[in-house]
Amino acid sequence: MNYLTDSLHALATSLRNAFRAPTTVEFPDVIRPRPERYRTTFALLNDEQGDQLCIGCLMCERICPSTVIAIKAAGKRESPVTGKKRGYADDFVLDLSACIYCELCVQVCPVDAIVMTRAPEVPTFSREDLVLTMERLYANGVDKPRAWGDGTRLMAMQEPAPGAAPAHHAPKAPTPSGPSAHTDDKPASSAAVREEPQ
Ligand code: SF4
Ligand code: SF4
Repeated sequence: MNYLTDSLHALATSLRNAFRAPTTVEFPDVIRPRPERYRTTFALLNDEQGDQLCIGCLMCERICPSTVIAIKAAGKRESPVTGKKRGYADDFVLDLSACIYCELCVQVCPVDAIVMTRAPEVPTFSREDLVLTMERLYANGVDKPRAWGDGTRLMAMQEPAPGAAPAHHAPKAPTPSGPSAHTDDKPASSAAVREEPQ
């Protein structure tokens, strides 16, 4: 008897669903609106003078729980733009294949040099394509739209521990194009203008 009622229930469920409007879409012909904080890949940014923002401090590499970031710090050298000595990274590789998208690397960056982008999916057939070299990371900074977060914004969201001072980065000099810029339409480059979340 149970067998019969269970079968009738299953049949009724099947019939109900057979005439229900589909909840899926024909991707990639139809792409659902992305959430505000949707993010896909990474970018490294230059400042408005074209100098690398990354100072090679290794904080992103050290905090990465998946250990997918490998940086060769260059130590201090003269900036070709300002003539002042500052840190640089000679090499920067991020292997997306094991990234868990925790965004900790972005959050700890003291100069907002590394950000995530919200470029649409780019399918790949090989693991090598998921390895973001320094060249690719800087190229992403130029031609991919930025995701919401950067180090400053993500740190500002942190609840301070009881009795502790609020978490924040050292204040940065405001720039007209600022390293925290991002929109859906604009590239990750620091030449875009910051927009507040909707
Ligand atoms: S998002 Fe998380 S896992 Fe991915 S590279 Fe950054 S710190 Fe590592
Ligand atoms: S991206 Fe930011 S956290 Fe990572 S090495 Fe460069 S300056 Fe440091």
